[in-house]
Amino acid sequence: MTFKKLGNVYVLRLFKGEEIIGTITSFLEKENIGGGRIFGIGALKDVVLGYFDVSKEEYLKKKFEESFELLNLAGNISQVEGKPFAHIHVLLGKGDYGVIGGHLFEGIVSVTCEIFVDVYPPIKREFDSDTKLNLLSL
Ligand code: ZN
Repeated sequence: MTFKKLGNVYVLRLFKGEEIIGTITSFLEKENIGGGRIFGIGALKDVVLGYFDVSKEEYLKKKFEESFELLNLAGNISQVEGKPFAHIHVLLGKGDYGVIGGHLFEGIVSVTCEIFVDVYPPIKREFDSDTKLNLLSL
């Protein structure tokens, strides 16, 4: 990954073969970013998506191995127990032009990913016993 800082915005270019969540998280740790907004496009393969099953109070996960157009990556950056956390959702375009989407757990860059990060002051997440999720603490 390479990046450039333009004012309060970081522009990231991820390389083919990099795992997207791990790469973004280590970037946030190195740059000490604890709050922000993230947007991106590109191409991903070997993607693990999540769907939160409300009745089971857990994420159902599914892996998709083909290469997708990353049509939209949208999310926010916050801190969980003092460490940066990127909450990211994606829409992925298939070869038949259909679209799938969900909460992004992992994915490998198959061509490139172009990510923009707007930096805000730190935003905390705390465990919520009702939903069993780390929710924004505002
Ligand atoms: Zn989510």
